[in-house]
Order: sequence, then C-alpha cells, then structure tokens
Amino acid sequence: MIDNLNHIRDMIDRHGQGEVTLIAVTKYQTIEDTNAIIELGVKDIGESRAQDLEQKLPDISPEARIHFIGHLQRNKVKDIIRHVTLIHSVDSFRLARQIDRLARENELVMDILVQVNIAHEDAKWGFDEDELDQVLQDIAELPNVRIQGLMMMAPMVEDPEEVRGYFRKMKELFDYYADLNYNNVYMKYLSMGMTNDYKIALEEGSNMIRIGTALFQ
Ligand SMILES: *Cc1c(COP(=O)(O)O)cnc(C)c1O
Repeated sequence: MIDNLNHIRDMIDRHGQGEVTLIAVTKYQTIEDTNAIIELGVKDIGESRAQDLEQKLPDISPEARIHFIGHLQRNKVKDIIRHVTLIHSVDSFRLARQIDRLARENELVMDILVQVNIAHEDAKWGFDEDELDQVLQDIAELPNVRIQGLMMMAPMVEDPEEVRGYFRKMKELFDYYADLNYNNVYMKYLSMGMTNDYKIALEEGSNMIRIGTALFQ
C-alpha cells in the first residue's frame, strides 16, 4: 500500500498541473484497509454504494473526508448526507433537488459535482454536454446545494491515450464555466482519472483523481 501510494504521489508530482487531490477509492476495501490508507495520510476516501458506506460509517476514522462517487438513488440521500464531504455523481435534476431538500432539513449546504457523460455512453450516468448549461443554471437555483465542479468517467479502453480527447474536452468545459461565473456555480474541482487513465487525466488538467486498484492491489 505504501509503495503504491508513493508511486501515485510521484505521478501526481510529475504529471499534475498544479494542486491535485488524491481520493483513495475504498469501495472494495475492508474497514481495516480503509483506515490504514487514512492513517498513511490520504484523508479523502471515495465510496460508491450508499449501503456499503452506511455499514462502514461507525468504524471509519473521524479524520476521513468521505466522497460519494457512485450513482446515488434519491431514496438513499438521507442515509449519507450528514456524512459526506462532496457528492461527485449528480446526474439528474431530481437528484439535485432531493439533495437540496435533505440538506435544508439537516441545516447544511451540500457541495456537489455535476457528472458529465462526455463520451455519450449508454451505460454511463451523467449529462450530455449540450444539457450542461441549462442544468447548471437550474441546480444553481437550489439554495442548499453548491456546485463545486464537474466529474466524469472515461470509457474503458486498452490504451488510455484513446480517451485523452475526452479529458481535454472536460477541461475546456470546466474552464468555460469557470469564466462564465454563474451565480452559485464554482469550478473548483475537476474530478477525473482512475487507475487506468489517471496519468493522462493529470496531464489534461484533472485536479481530483479517484484511485482504487492502483492503490490497494
Ligand atoms: C471504482 C471507481 C473508481 C476507482 O476505480 P479504479 O479503476 O479501481 O481506480 C473511480 N471512480 C469511480 C466513480 C468508481 O466507481
């Protein structure tokens, strides 16, 4: 685990375009390994299933910042909202509205990212880029959510060079909306890059990578 971590940190130093947050994706890890990586200094952890997260919650180190990165069903929002730092995977307006409602009930403002289906894959969640402008404006009206950036998952390919264009497109969208500067829309985090493609994602300007396999294998 420590060797893997050192390697990833070195890759961030060499290929990152500035400050980068490493999220350790702990979705398949035991509570022991989850807490071990936090102990090693990776305080940001990613979970993708509400049920698994709920089971781990009582035992996760209080130092952790928990990121929700998987598809989130509206009826699960209530179970996680008090415990997570950032929800990366907002993929419908109805989900955003439910997060807003529950955030208000819990007297908090929830930071979210809007997921973009940049490669128009049928099997992936997220908005098409041509829906993005309207959806950002609609979500921005919700007082108890705060859009902090964009998230994407690249198609699975043998050679990650094949998806460089998608990362580049995401960075262009990110910069475009940063410049537009809509009220209540902050382009702080661009969450992209996983085990297979994070080097390319870093080169193209990702500032938040989500790594499971390369860290824990
Ligand atoms: C599982 C998962 C990851 C990490 O995947 P690895 O290939 O194991 O690094 C990142 N992001 C999301 C949304 C995931 O579900």
